[in-house]
Amino acid sequence: MDYKGFILHHSRCTSINGKGFDFWVAKDGAIYAAPLLTDPEHIHICLEGDYGMAGPLTDPRGCSGQLFAAGKLILELSARYRISPLLVEAHDDSCPGAYFPWNELVIYPADGYH
Ligand SMILES: [Zn+2]
Repeated sequence: MDYKGFILHHSRCTSINGKGFDFWVAKDGAIYAAPLLTDPEHIHICLEGDYGMAGPLTDPRGCSGQLFAAGKLILELSARYRISPLLVEAHDDSCPGAYFPWNELVIYPADGYH
C-alpha cells in the first residue's frame, strides 16, 4: 500500500475521513494509535487542541512536547511506510487552523537527533 503523505488535524475536527483519526497526539506528547488506518492514501494525525484560535491551547510553551512527539511520529511512520516525511499537509483552511505552529513541527529526514 502506498501512502501519499500525512494530513494533520486538530481535535475539534469532526470529519477525519468520517471515521476518526489514525494517530492522536495529546498535549503532553502521548500518542494513541487507532487499531486500523482509515484512509488508503493518507495517514491522519490528530493533534489535541484547536489551532483555529489564539489562546491557551495554542500557547507554544504548552505544546512543544506535543509537536516534538508529532514530528517523531511522522518520522517513524514515514520510515515504516516509505513516505517522504516532508509530505505533511493541513486538512483544510480551518484545520488544524490558522494558528498551528508549522515552524515548530521540526522534521529531520535524516538521523538528525538522538
Ligand atoms: Zn480535519
